[in-house]
Amino acid sequence: MTADGKDRPRARASPEDPGGLAAASARPPCGAAGSVPGPPSAAGRGAPGGAAKMKPTSVSRPARPAPLGGTVVISPDDWEIFRRLTSTKLTAEERRAAVRPSMRDAKEKCLFAPHFHPEWVPMDLLDERLAKAFPAATERFAVPTQHNVITSMGPWSGVEVDVWSRPCGMKIQLLVHARAGRLEGSATFRSMVERTFRYRELQLLEILELAARPDDGTLAELAKSGFGEGELQSAARLCARLKAMIDISGVASGPGVAMLKNRLATDYIEGKFQGRDPAGLERQLSLVNLLKSRVKARLDPARFQEADELIEEARGLGAGVVVPHPPRFWPALLAELDADGWEVWNPSTPSHAVFLTQCLARRGKIRRPLLAFMGDDTHMSSKIRLHMVSDKGGGDREIGFQPAWKDPATTAALKAAGQSRRRTMEEYQARLA
Ligand SMILES: [Zn+2]
Repeated sequence: MTADGKDRPRARASPEDPGGLAAASARPPCGAAGSVPGPPSAAGRGAPGGAAKMKPTSVSRPARPAPLGGTVVISPDDWEIFRRLTSTKLTAEERRAAVRPSMRDAKEKCLFAPHFHPEWVPMDLLDERLAKAFPAATERFAVPTQHNVITSMGPWSGVEVDVWSRPCGMKIQLLVHARAGRLEGSATFRSMVERTFRYRELQLLEILELAARPDDGTLAELAKSGFGEGELQSAARLCARLKAMIDISGVASGPGVAMLKNRLATDYIEGKFQGRDPAGLERQLSLVNLLKSRVKARLDPARFQEADELIEEARGLGAGVVVPHPPRFWPALLAELDADGWEVWNPSTPSHAVFLTQCLARRGKIRRPLLAFMGDDTHMSSKIRLHMVSDKGGGDREIGFQPAWKDPATTAALKAAGQSRRRTMEEYQARLA
């Protein structure tokens, strides 16, 4: 497969195919036996939101090379799940969940949230959520840091950018914060961020393609992990359906493109199981996660902006730069990036807060004093899609809550390093002025 779409099978909608649906029902994705296609919910050919009049769709593909999974048959049930997962419109229930924080601090005067992901939740709802979570807050530094998309909230803009670190030979991430309008107002910075935006969509397509046509190395790894032919065929069938729906719906050219991320594959599979056969679901998810790790391992550096170039551009706009969750890419801390600080704690990397704080202090000044950050890294999808069980680790996060600031050992290390939440908040904002 290729990243540019060459050699991918072209999905093609076929006329109504009741026989195909029957075939699909006779051969349900593993664990979904007995499922009945759900009622479609919207009108219009092709669009994910347009499944109402859509009949079961059979898609034929060229047989070179023969993909796993057999004929692709899309049922109304598939379209309903796809529409739900790629819709950026919140349901009434999701709107209620968006303004209902899972934690509350009635006394905290200072709201500090330099790392969170609104995803498709509107900022006014997040404002309401924060006001409920921190009713006594009189000071606030809350900056959304969407993946590779610049967004703003109040006086601040932010983004979490995937970049390539040439000295480290690896992809890393950087948080960039600035006064609202500065990042958006720079065509150069915008183009740098947009360059990395689409790689996630391409990665999803590569994962789906790999399920259909696993290479020898992937097959060997799947076998080593104990996956059998039946499981592989089931995953291939599910992935082929998802790929066909992406092609037919045209979702990539609308706002739904934001939903074309790797997790769409696992979310779709989870949707197909509808709570049945947890063990079977777990197997399918781990199989797709194995495919995902294989695709991620062959990342193409050319898809990313060089870290130093992006930082230089951000600096020119008066922006601040923070290295998030460095335990995911330790070497980056030795690359002497022109950063304002790094996260000593993040829920995805919670184990090294003391050590990272001590390192931060020892590094002293390279260009400017480093500040200790903590990111709650809350992804709002995990807060509004309450029915999803695959949100491991997401449920206990909350915007503005970074409990390690109050951990005794971490607090002692911070104090010894001359660091504190208040210092970071005040000094960092002053740098962005
Ligand atoms: Zn993040």
